[in-house]
Amino acid sequence: MSEEHTVIIIGSGPAGLTAAIYTARANLHPLLIEGEPSSTSDQPGGQLMLTTEIENYPGFVNGIGGPELMEAFHDQAARFGTTYVTRRATKVNLQSWPFEVWVNDETNPPDYTAKVLIIATGARALMLGLENEARLIGHGVSTCATCDGFFFRDQDIAVVGGGDSALEEAIFLTKFAKQVTIIHRRDELRASRIMQDRAFANPKIKFQWNSVVVDVLGDTKVSGLLIKNVKTEELTKLDVTGLFVAIGHAPNSSLFEGQLELTQTGYIKTFTGTSTSVPGVFACGDVQDADYRQAITAAGSGCMAAIDAERWLSAREHHASNP
Ligand code: NAP
Repeated sequence: MSEEHTVIIIGSGPAGLTAAIYTARANLHPLLIEGEPSSTSDQPGGQLMLTTEIENYPGFVNGIGGPELMEAFHDQAARFGTTYVTRRATKVNLQSWPFEVWVNDETNPPDYTAKVLIIATGARALMLGLENEARLIGHGVSTCATCDGFFFRDQDIAVVGGGDSALEEAIFLTKFAKQVTIIHRRDELRASRIMQDRAFANPKIKFQWNSVVVDVLGDTKVSGLLIKNVKTEELTKLDVTGLFVAIGHAPNSSLFEGQLELTQTGYIKTFTGTSTSVPGVFACGDVQDADYRQAITAAGSGCMAAIDAERWLSAREHHASNP
């Protein structure tokens, strides 16, 4: 038998948890499918679990740790009656209503049904796509400085990317590493001015401009990188024991492929507010936002999704009692 719910939220980053706070306070008793513990961005709490200090979330004058902020969101949603399921949603059926959601064996009937579905599955770190990068993940290759930085005490390591994530990772890693080389494919950073200033001022950080990683070297752990200068085509070896990949993100939307309209880059398309191409399904946070991708904008859109969901349910109930 499927468990019946009014609102199911998939995803537990700032968007999903804010949607939970608002729908719980609207007495809609949300069920939140929060993901499973892992070292990737689809773990409970989402990408902020992999960050260090957040200095731009309003209200925290001296900044706050990512995990600490998400724990507060989680506890706040729990206080108003959110029920958590520490599983990954493995399948959804948006063709029938109430919508069907599986977290276990997909050959069985759905585990849950919901009158309204709020999708807040976020985004995940992109990888370079090199064979040895995949093979050496967890053995010197990482996407999370907070998780793995400690293992690189007094070592020379590299970070790939030129955005805020790359600089944030690099600055954090200087707490442990002897030297951090930022490898960037252009000669100009994409990161915000304040992060650039901090990185340029850090004596442990050096830059390798106009360069891409073409191979990750090492049998059982990283022993170096093969770097190509994109201007001169020259190949050089960089002796490092760690590679942190920080080249951006992709939306976690594969669960909804073929059922919801997606953009060309895979983000869920939203129309008025947070509504999607299926009435009663709402999307918020990074899974539908390729432009802003901030904790505060994710939280804001989670609030919008909750209000949109509540209004949609009221309109439907009103219509059912006044046909
Ligand atoms: P991003 O801004 O998209 O930057 C990705 C970087 O990786 C770019 O410099 C890009 O190079 C490079 N890149 C992409 N694909 C590559 C490839 N295949 N090989 C080599 N380099 C590649 O992503 P992000 O840094 O993760 O930031 C995402 C958003 O989160 C941004 O809005 C950012 O401001 C925000 N954020 C904020 C903070 C903070 O405020 N503390 C921290 C982290 C992230 P090009 O520049 O040449 O395109």
